[in-house]
Amino acid sequence: MAKIIILGAGLTGLSAAYHLEQNGFFDYKIYDKEDAPGGLCRSVQQDGFTFDYTGHLLHINDPYMESFSNDNLGKKNFNTIVRRSFIQSHDTFIKYPFQINLYGLPSKVISECIEGFVNRPQSNKDPKSFHAWVMKHFGAGLAKHFFTPFQSKILAYDIKKITPSWTGRFVPKTSLTQMIDGALGGQKEDEKVGYNSTFFYPQKGGISYIISSLVAKIKNQIQTGFEMESIDLQNKVVTFTNGDFETYDHLINTIPLDNFLKKTVDSSATNLNPQHKNLVCNSVFNFNLGINRADLTTKHWIYFPEGEYPFYRLGFPHNFAKSMAPAGCSSLYGECAFVGQTDTQALLANALDKTKKILNLNDNEIITQKIITIPRAYVLYTFWREKNLPQLLNQLEQHAIYSIGRYGGWKYSSMQESILDGQKVAQQILSEQQVMPSQQFEQENLFK
Ligand SMILES: Cc1cc2nc3c(=O)[nH]c(=O)nc-3n(C[C@H](O)[C@H](O)[C@H](O)COP(=O)(O)OP(=O)(O)OC[C@H]3O[C@@H](n4cnc5c(N)ncnc54)[C@H](O)[C@@H]3O)c2cc1C
Repeated sequence: MAKIIILGAGLTGLSAAYHLEQNGFFDYKIYDKEDAPGGLCRSVQQDGFTFDYTGHLLHINDPYMESFSNDNLGKKNFNTIVRRSFIQSHDTFIKYPFQINLYGLPSKVISECIEGFVNRPQSNKDPKSFHAWVMKHFGAGLAKHFFTPFQSKILAYDIKKITPSWTGRFVPKTSLTQMIDGALGGQKEDEKVGYNSTFFYPQKGGISYIISSLVAKIKNQIQTGFEMESIDLQNKVVTFTNGDFETYDHLINTIPLDNFLKKTVDSSATNLNPQHKNLVCNSVFNFNLGINRADLTTKHWIYFPEGEYPFYRLGFPHNFAKSMAPAGCSSLYGECAFVGQTDTQALLANALDKTKKILNLNDNEIITQKIITIPRAYVLYTFWREKNLPQLLNQLEQHAIYSIGRYGGWKYSSMQESILDGQKVAQQILSEQQVMPSQQFEQENLFK
């Protein structure tokens, strides 16, 4: 019996564990099905290269995250990097974001984008779909030349069937002045547009440096090799595939919500189990290459909206930290999204062919290759999700289950949000449920 069980030792689960302990609470257990913690925030070493489970860059814009990082990760261990990201369009590379950097595109494309922006539909109604949101804020030209092909590719889904509620800080808006400036080449090199204009990256160890730093701070054992098989909501028992089981008072779930629901045994009238079928996400096929050429490019990453390229992005980790590739070498990652099944062999062959062409690479220069498939990558903001997710999470809370993180909370979120979700849930459970052993702590020390 543990008062609190944490399912999943990715960044969110580890943050919850860390914040429980920071508040002096140790009557919890944390489990993960893999043989090491970290979840998606993971790096592998191969032939002298470090590859992340696709590009992971740390963005910080929250004051608590700032102090958490200073205290636990050590800002001095990170490179602070000003973004150099581009979009490949009409046989040229333009700077990101597209909407304010039209310079270099064919004049017909520029005029369609500006004309579309000026004539965009005016309405006071909130757009229901992402497509309608793009038309309202950017117009038909930008929709045609960037947003529709790019977002359809990265989501591998019909953008008329998803809501715009995730766009908030991810899609920078624009004005006519900015567009015209950008079309004339007037954007400043250091334009601070978008959530990722500056980012942080560990100097050594790849992105999993964040995990190893956090794990080093956690005192309780992280129980790896424990895959949750089923959960009895009424009796509050979790059973694992290795035959072990554990009871709890409160459960913090960070494993994918669809899978979690599928494993619930719920004898109540509001059986939550069947809801798993309504949650939709895509998968990402991630190929990583070690390349025997110094300075392959100075870019950090390139977006590819056009259909002839199977990937939506290529990134270059050797430009995040020198330690990512041996001296004299470069590295890259590519990402292709799909829903359901795909022929990964054919996808890889096409992706390698296009990568070699765009970067003028030959086979002899590719020293090593690491393929990673991420089964749940981008949560799709379907209309069902918009309408039902809050109630679903609420119903779980009535069973003392707090489902958080990118996949537990079924949302489009970042590593920063994982840390914050873990902090908030520890605070919520310890304060609301009064599970704190009272004599161990000074009240005023809580949640500082
Ligand atoms: C393509 C892509 C690019 C990204 N890029 C960035 C970026 O640049 N910057 C950024 O900040 N964020 C980025 N993210 C988001 C980031 O990866 C996540 O926000 C964060 O890692 C999520 O952590 P988590 O702990 O919530 O989930 P996860 O990392 O998925 O952890 C969940 C854990 O649960 C475990 N688990 C699953 N099922 C079971 C089971 N049945 N029993 C026991 N354990 C189980 C898993 O093994 C895993 O360890 C990106 C994500 C993707 C998909």
